[in-house]
Amino acid sequence: MTSPAVSSPAVPRVRVDACPGALQTHTAADGELARVRVPGGLLTSGQLRVLAAAARDLGDGALELTSRGNLQLRGLAPEAAPELGRRLAAAGLLPSESHERVRNVLASALTGRAGGHLDVRPWVTAFDAGLCADPALAGLPGRFLATLDDGRGDVTGLGGDVGLFALGPDAVALTLAGVDSGVRAAPSDAVGLALAATLAFLAERTAQGGTAWRLAELTDGPARVAARVPGPRATPVPLPPTPVTGPVGADVQADGRTALVGVVPLGRLGAAQADLLAGLADEVQLTPWRSVVVPDLDEHRVDDAAVDLHRTGVVFDADSPWLRVTACAGRPGCAKSLADVRADAAAAAATGTLPADGTRQHWAGCERRCGRPRGDVVDVVASPAGYRVS
Ligand code: SF4
Repeated sequence: MTSPAVSSPAVPRVRVDACPGALQTHTAADGELARVRVPGGLLTSGQLRVLAAAARDLGDGALELTSRGNLQLRGLAPEAAPELGRRLAAAGLLPSESHERVRNVLASALTGRAGGHLDVRPWVTAFDAGLCADPALAGLPGRFLATLDDGRGDVTGLGGDVGLFALGPDAVALTLAGVDSGVRAAPSDAVGLALAATLAFLAERTAQGGTAWRLAELTDGPARVAARVPGPRATPVPLPPTPVTGPVGADVQADGRTALVGVVPLGRLGAAQADLLAGLADEVQLTPWRSVVVPDLDEHRVDDAAVDLHRTGVVFDADSPWLRVTACAGRPGCAKSLADVRADAAAAAATGTLPADGTRQHWAGCERRCGRPRGDVVDVVASPAGYRVS
């Protein structure tokens, strides 16, 4: 079970966060990097096609899936950002230029289709709209994360600052820094509560100096933010442990159709793969486990869809090492990297020579270990003397 909230000393940050966005790109060794926020990981097929075309025309030909269910384009020319912005805005992927970096919203995978107490997709839409509608919330740090969990417990433990967790079809808990705050709401009032808590986080952050990137960095952050929001209180309950890996394979939906969940090795989705996905369903969902949900497949289409995707490298096998291996950008994308960690991890996976018996592991080109998943992970870090496994 998730441990209870504890007091944390305030951590004075000496710099503002520099999370990239779609417009505020990051200069990497292989060109500009743009991060496109995808609230809830939910993309229409039309949006996915726009992103695939942008990756092909403006970037290095691929989309990178991130641990927050967002997407990155790499290898952009310095002058490509305005054109990318125009394409994203036209596709509805950039509803607010001022808020684009703070639209980090994770939602339960498969929500509304299989499992969970309720469908949180309407929460995603309403929360994102509320976020973008409030000028004050443009001041959130780029590291801000909201989690909208339909009760299956898959995203609540992934480090959200503010979250909703469905305790049942009629009751929702407000989570702060991943633990139950004790504040409750009915499902219809839940988004309002989450937005109030987000504003309260911002107010408490300001009261504590305005430098923290995350709610958990504030002194007594969960308790002080909870005290700032209205709503009935209950005794906080333990929340389910976060799964180590996400779902994979075929899931029968409540409506009898099938959702395929495929892992994209190292999160690198080629433009052709994205186009293929877009041709299979009207909407796909990106997950924080660098996988993609292809929902609403009629029975006669499931096998062909799985075969077509598998041919391009998408993984449906729960025993595949690709469910347990992640890597940072490494060379050539990052100048700090001592190795091409993605190529080395891929070679080790292909030859069955992953270290630590192939247990959950994160490969990194330097000690910063960017993109390291939460929880128990073996680190495989490049050093001048080769990879160090710890
Ligand atoms: S972990 Fe190091 S090498 Fe890898 S992306 Fe981050 S800074 Fe670059």
